[in-house]
Amino acid sequence: MKFTFVTLFSNLIEGYFQDSILKRAIDKNLLEIEYLNPRDFSENKHSKVDDTAVGGGAGMVMNPQPLYDSLKELQKADEDVHIIFLTPVAKPFRQNDAKRLAKKEHIAFVSGRYEGIDERVIEEFADEVFSIGDYILTGGELASLVICDAVSRNIEGVLGNSGSLEVESFETPLLEAPSFSKPQEYENNSVPSEYLKGNHSNIRSIKLALSECKTKFFRPEQLLKHRTRKSYEK
Ligand code: SAM
Repeated sequence: MKFTFVTLFSNLIEGYFQDSILKRAIDKNLLEIEYLNPRDFSENKHSKVDDTAVGGGAGMVMNPQPLYDSLKELQKADEDVHIIFLTPVAKPFRQNDAKRLAKKEHIAFVSGRYEGIDERVIEEFADEVFSIGDYILTGGELASLVICDAVSRNIEGVLGNSGSLEVESFETPLLEAPSFSKPQEYENNSVPSEYLKGNHSNIRSIKLALSECKTKFFRPEQLLKHRTRKSYEK
């Protein structure tokens, strides 16, 4: 899978691929990362990429020309590239999007800066737009990394143990049960005693009960979804 980051600030992104799972995936040729800087395409003699907003309003907006030309170039190199714009004004990114996008061959993330991107560019080029939550970041770089990371771990071979994908939160409406590591006793705190007895059917039902508790506390709407699904299965 190839990811192209269309950004004015690639150095904000590069470090993330220099260690751990995604670095190993690059080393194994499972991932390829490329950067495209709209500033390199600017026709302005000072390589400007932004201007004041037409119609007024605070702050600067990214001009259409540098982005338009960089994205045309990208499409010329690969007409099947799937272009995603990051914007708070979009549907929220979810785990099922991560799984769906993991089947693509080439995804490009377009990061906005300042007050955002001229809407005409988004309308012309976006295959999809995503928000990563109801808050405003200074730019789309973190948001594109979040999506890239979530997509990458669903690509076959990227995770050492693909079994971990099957039991994670958001695979079902229930959040994952709490996990514990060794030692069994730490600072006068023990792991749940049933986890130690080796009866796997007991452990499964205790994990389910703990999962339901967590979901009820943190995401009650998800528990409702779980219960509705269960009642349809009966
Ligand atoms: N003026 C815009 C608004 O109120 O909707 C916010 C612009 S924000 C300061 C600059 C850029 O950061 C956006 O163009 C987008 O690429 C990125 N960004 C900010 N928050 C985001 C979020 N929650 N999800 C995805 N991208 C975001």
